[in-house]
Amino acid sequence: MKKLLTSFAILAACFAAGAQDFDTYFEDATLRLDYVLCGGADNQAVYFQQASKTSGWAGRRQHMDELLLEGNGQIRLRSLDDGKVLYANSFSTLFQEWQSIPEASQVQKAFENCFQVPFPKEKVEVEVTLTNARREVCATLRHVIDPADILIRRIHDNGNPCITVWEGGSLEKAIDIVIVAEGYTAEEKAKFFSDARRLEEGVFSHEPFASRHGDFNVRAVFAESQGSGASVPREGEWHDTAVSCHYDTFYSDRYLTTSSMQKLYDLIGTVPFEHVIVLVNTPRYGGGGVFNSVTIASSNHPTANIVLVHEFGHSFAGLADEYAYDNYGDRYPEGIEPWEPNVTTLTDFASKWEDMLEPGTPVPTPVDQLEQRRDIRRIWNTLPAKDRERLNLHVGVYEGAAYNPTGVFRPVQECRMRMNECEHFCPVCSRAIQRTIDFYTR
Ligand SMILES: [Zn+2]
Repeated sequence: MKKLLTSFAILAACFAAGAQDFDTYFEDATLRLDYVLCGGADNQAVYFQQASKTSGWAGRRQHMDELLLEGNGQIRLRSLDDGKVLYANSFSTLFQEWQSIPEASQVQKAFENCFQVPFPKEKVEVEVTLTNARREVCATLRHVIDPADILIRRIHDNGNPCITVWEGGSLEKAIDIVIVAEGYTAEEKAKFFSDARRLEEGVFSHEPFASRHGDFNVRAVFAESQGSGASVPREGEWHDTAVSCHYDTFYSDRYLTTSSMQKLYDLIGTVPFEHVIVLVNTPRYGGGGVFNSVTIASSNHPTANIVLVHEFGHSFAGLADEYAYDNYGDRYPEGIEPWEPNVTTLTDFASKWEDMLEPGTPVPTPVDQLEQRRDIRRIWNTLPAKDRERLNLHVGVYEGAAYNPTGVFRPVQECRMRMNECEHFCPVCSRAIQRTIDFYTR
């Protein structure tokens, strides 16, 4: 109950300001705030590093003070006069994922994080909070930003070539995605733009992105790398690349990430964006997606398209993995409802997809015989369409999700967020993506 009240209080506080507030409180410009998140398995702190400014604001101009999802942390801008929340956003971080691996009990580490917020007209208090697995606030930093501060760096065009891959609407209305080149040499510029176009088409061939294509703009920024390809630590292969991405993050071979968030933002420069996809020039399998932070994708693996849309599900819509292997730690303690829209511990199921269950659906819902087959992934493409549809579309409460074989439940038997072979998002994930698009655009 305490958790519910906490979540409700956050949302209630967020509804205090109105949609007309953008022009009252903000310039048409972006304030980039750089932080370092530090700590170990059981401790964490947020430190402010620097601020910078670019012209134009690509983010939402409505629901300014609301959070659609809680994330594993939040950033808020408050009026110094009355404490009113002027802007809020939620996010997850690589740092918090790292906190659940054994290394975090042995060493204290620091991770870069960059946030973009609308540029305030008056002094504001910025608050950054991190929450733990129990959804309790475990670290808070508050500081004041004075828009007249001469040390807010002005960012100028860095000269990196940028093309528009897809234009669905104006900067103010559409959701702006930027695709950044990683591991492409100067000679591979044309390949990058070609890869970016192909993968953009791949993402937007999936519903519900396909039917909402007009709500997005997609740009591609070429950043030159000295070395071609991806760094693969377990093979001793390191390349000098634009964004310093590498496989083997947390010693997981296919987990492709970067710790160089400031470098990434510097390469994007003045190109307006709300969501960033780093496209890594490699045929190797892998990727990564962190909610409201970054999506990282391989360019040329045969499954590149479908891995990218899965990872974008994480970073854009806050979707959890619906599979139950790869235990990264006990992210959902007993009695805690995850904030991710597509998994539940049944602690607060009414806040999830209870309204989408057919009357009489047993909870938990037993999986059918096909789903129990160990070779389900191998035989998926040979199954009759009606079987695939049943496994993908019949909404229930199936045990095993988010790396936990027991105690965490998913909405369907198979989904794009569970296995690559499954072609479509399930109805619950689709609704979550639709709601995210609506939140940014309506
Ligand atoms: Zn799903």
